[in-house]
Amino acid sequence: MSSVCTEQHRVGCALGGYYTALAMEGVLPVLHCGPGCQEQVQNVLALVNGGQNAHPFQEMFLPCTSFSESDVVFGGTDRLRKTVSMAIESYKAEMMLIVSGCTPAIVGDDVAEVAESFSDAKMPVRCAELPGFTGNNLLGHSRVLRAVLGTCGRETPEVVPRMVNVFGIVPFYDPFWDGTLENFGYLLRAIGLKPNILYGRGNGYRNVKKVPRAEFNIVASPWIDLDIAAELRERFGTPLFHYPAIPVGPVESSRFLRELTAFSKLDSNHIEQYISDMEERYYYYINRSLSWIHECRNMSKEFIVISGASSALSFTRCLINDLGLIPKKIYITEDVPSDYHKIIRGYFKDVAYDGPVEVIFTDDGGLAASEMRDMDLSGRPIILGSAWDDASAQNLGLPYIPISAPLGDYPIGSKNYFGYEGGLSLFCEYCAACDKA
Ligand code: SF4
Repeated sequence: MSSVCTEQHRVGCALGGYYTALAMEGVLPVLHCGPGCQEQVQNVLALVNGGQNAHPFQEMFLPCTSFSESDVVFGGTDRLRKTVSMAIESYKAEMMLIVSGCTPAIVGDDVAEVAESFSDAKMPVRCAELPGFTGNNLLGHSRVLRAVLGTCGRETPEVVPRMVNVFGIVPFYDPFWDGTLENFGYLLRAIGLKPNILYGRGNGYRNVKKVPRAEFNIVASPWIDLDIAAELRERFGTPLFHYPAIPVGPVESSRFLRELTAFSKLDSNHIEQYISDMEERYYYYINRSLSWIHECRNMSKEFIVISGASSALSFTRCLINDLGLIPKKIYITEDVPSDYHKIIRGYFKDVAYDGPVEVIFTDDGGLAASEMRDMDLSGRPIILGSAWDDASAQNLGLPYIPISAPLGDYPIGSKNYFGYEGGLSLFCEYCAACDKA
């Protein structure tokens, strides 16, 4: 019998899904778990992942039952009921979401019954059971989103023309989520749509209530949130526009816009003019760097990506299609359901490169580091990954760009790589990293 030791964690446990709730203004998670769970999750998804914390409900002020030994013996539902009652009176929230971890699940606390007992409360109270032994924070994200969207009922209200819900980005886990969504919103507005975004500044529960009224849903990811979109189609009949990546760089951004235009029957003349302006601007700035590129002798021709599926695909497409780099190996380090492996491999072939693109699905974050030690690195590949991979890149003398969790313990503000501007940012990061290494 062989044993496999996984190392270098790049995901949180399922309880980490509560960060999806924290990204929605007005939604207050009530934690029903051990006192150390919150900090455990925070360490992977927030603090050392771009120096993030939640706002306006900060982690350290969240109501928590601090599940203890006596709760293990007598059950923790009484304490949970009291905690929810006090939270309803004390916090300025619009919705409350009980999230429960491992110990309540092991002792059999009926968390759903506690949530239902608040059906007459002044705000909706729902629950998402997120014991860490059931999966990672992506499973938790899905359960939280379902629970929050559960407050929308099943009635199909009148559709608001041109309003679109935006899904596919996992807040906090994707360290660039906030800036990405902000710019996603700007892009959709620029082409005549009305984005309904659930996470980030000025968004939240008020937008959750608008979800059933959207003309269609956009899911910009290879697999995340497709389950949510399927449920919304079933409940409200909302059509889906699925694009497998977050558009990074001009090739993907223009393709995304053209496919979206065809789907939503937008004015194609207007979109083509927009694309032409944006591409002209992108190449203007690239051309202003040509002398520098000519002088720099260290530019990598190859790259290795170690990240979640969505980031891996988005960055790979830009590095190949816009910068002409060669993919050496792609490690997808989140637990992607096996049903999606073949489909996702297909997305990686849909690029301007005829050679093979080797994609590895693994939940062992340390696999890339051990394989790179024996790899032919004469092409000086640039590494795109997490803070774990920064250490590997330094040891191997290779350039490195941080793109995925855990990104590192420094604040990133609104930094992102979305769209045409994101392509320029990636180009500059690539040049700077190659020059420095
Ligand atoms: S795995 Fe369980 S005990 Fe550990 S942090 Fe997650 S919820 Fe808490």
